[in-house]
Amino acid sequence: MAALDGLPPLRDVIQRHGLDARKALGQNFLLDLNLTQKVARTAGSLEGVTVFEVGPGPGGLTRAILALGAAKVIAVERDARCLPALAEIADHYPGRLEVIEGDALKVDFAAMAPPESPVKIIANLPYNVGTQLLVNWLLPDRWPPFWQSLTLMFQKEVGQRIIAGEDDDHYGRLGVLCGWRTKAHMAFDISPQAFTPPPKVTSTVVHLTPRENPIPCAVDKLEKVTQAAFGQRRKMLRQSLKPLGGETLLHKADIDPQRRAETLSVEEFCRLANCL
Ligand code: SAM
Repeated sequence: MAALDGLPPLRDVIQRHGLDARKALGQNFLLDLNLTQKVARTAGSLEGVTVFEVGPGPGGLTRAILALGAAKVIAVERDARCLPALAEIADHYPGRLEVIEGDALKVDFAAMAPPESPVKIIANLPYNVGTQLLVNWLLPDRWPPFWQSLTLMFQKEVGQRIIAGEDDDHYGRLGVLCGWRTKAHMAFDISPQAFTPPPKVTSTVVHLTPRENPIPCAVDKLEKVTQAAFGQRRKMLRQSLKPLGGETLLHKADIDPQRRAETLSVEEFCRLANCL
């Protein structure tokens, strides 16, 4: 596909730099620049915004973000083979792309946030670290966080868990955490054929924005309650929450001990955590 930014087509870039996809790094590249632009547009206006991207790979999504006007992109990539391809993009957009070689799980993103411009995070996440990165971005004590939005691509099943609320089969610890601190929705699906190489499952783009005033609640207590409740999700709460106080805790929180984890709203989980 001809590129709108004057840079060479991604297939050529991949071939020239010998970027054969590595499974261990979760490498499924998105080469369709219409799709990468659609992902970037899901983040809303990028004018004056600093974008953090995880796993730019050969730079398809990075190029879309830059072309849409982001003030700056700071991209964290673990695979050193991708750096020369990313350097070409940096040359094309002087001063607007900084690439950090390393493991995104070890990067302190909050410390990198510039004080003068809003931060949005946009990424086609490596499947093996995606959920952990999302959880890390949701856990800080300081809220609202350093980021204004997260636009993230996941396997569809993970996306369903992120947006799930009570009485949904996909509802679990991730849904409670995301529902507590953010408003999340699935923007659109991407079929396996759009990637090189195609993954086994459909992907989805999820957009999350922080709630300004989440229900006051300590993260570690919320984690404790959801871990116990969903660890035995088919059991009644009086059984699954026994190690945390069982019926006494449930009565204190005014919740029927015969209910099951998947029927509790986020607000009720927060009530339980606050009664611990
Ligand atoms: N953004 C590119 C795209 O959309 O075509 C590539 C996405 S690919 C699904 C995931 C990328 O994350 C790969 O480039 C991979 O090398 C990188 N990656 C994997 N694990 C990583 C980690 N722990 N930290 C940073 N990057 C990582």
